[in-house]
Amino acid sequence: MSAGAPVFDKLALVGLGLIGSSIARAAREFGAAREIAALDASPEVMARVRELGLADEASGDPAKALKGADLVILCVPVGASGDVAGKLAPFLEKGAVLSDVGSVKASVVAQVAPMTPEGVAFIPAHPLAGTEFSGPDAGFASLFRNRWCILTPQDGEDPARVARLAAFWTRFGARVESMTPQHHDLVLAVTSHLPHLIAYNIVRTADDLGEDTRSEVIKFSASGFRDFTRIAASDPVMWRDIFLNNREAVLEMLGRFNEDLSELQRMIRRGDGEGLFELFTRTRAIRRSIVEQGQDTDAADFGRGRS
Ligand code: NAP
Repeated sequence: MSAGAPVFDKLALVGLGLIGSSIARAAREFGAAREIAALDASPEVMARVRELGLADEASGDPAKALKGADLVILCVPVGASGDVAGKLAPFLEKGAVLSDVGSVKASVVAQVAPMTPEGVAFIPAHPLAGTEFSGPDAGFASLFRNRWCILTPQDGEDPARVARLAAFWTRFGARVESMTPQHHDLVLAVTSHLPHLIAYNIVRTADDLGEDTRSEVIKFSASGFRDFTRIAASDPVMWRDIFLNNREAVLEMLGRFNEDLSELQRMIRRGDGEGLFELFTRTRAIRRSIVEQGQDTDAADFGRGRS
């Protein structure tokens, strides 16, 4: 399935969870790097990486993993980025590209840029792809196909290096766009972070209900609640770090959300059927454009089928 020469000679992945192990699988399947090295803080994860054969170098020794690596990608929780970058800095080779996959960008830039040694280019990235599962077994090579990958290069970055990193992601079938870290964080606050917060909250509200009601919530969950529970099953460490590291943008969006929710509340109280109908028609059109742009399936019930 590879298309052309490898984009990088040696790829070193740091953190072999869902995203890191998906990149490892995709890099091999699509021939994006000639050699792959893996590094994870957890000995259990490293052992599993060796069992699964996800990398050519998986000794757990940072000096070996980063030797000759011209692309190093941090795939660790956002809150650990600065610490991990600091520990790896002495092993990064001149001319290497250092990147990441963090779901928040301004905070990662603030943590990692000061740790980046002279001669190494730090080009942050965020693939908008994932599932609610974690760990090296959860990854798969097609995760990034038809998904966006946002790059947030710093001012003055060499365009050729940015283009090379973009070529790496497009090799996986991803679509690449560049923007500032601040703009990324605002857009993701409404498209990803706020929906997760709502899901965590609605599942909490249901769980706080009395014993009888709670069992009925689970029994009849297919009526909508089930989709929230999938999102609310996402990794607690990852999402704790996202909210702590994108605090301002999330609070800004939450403020707007609360205002809009109050308006909806008013419409229901006043029996404003016309207003509700108009709003729900508008939101239905948004769903249609997401499907038209290939960002989701148009199968009923997300293709779960009727069984
Ligand atoms: P994950 O499956 O939990 O994997 C994270 C990996 O990083 C684990 O193997 C973890 O080891 C390791 N790790 C944690 N702290 C570390 C440290 N200090 N040094 C080295 N390794 C460390 O998480 P993920 O879903 O792949 O997420 C990784 C990054 O991708 C996060 O920044 C997240 O924001 C971003 N992202 C996630 C998604 C998504 O939907 N999941 C989508 C796009 C971007 P342990 O298991 O021992 O903790």
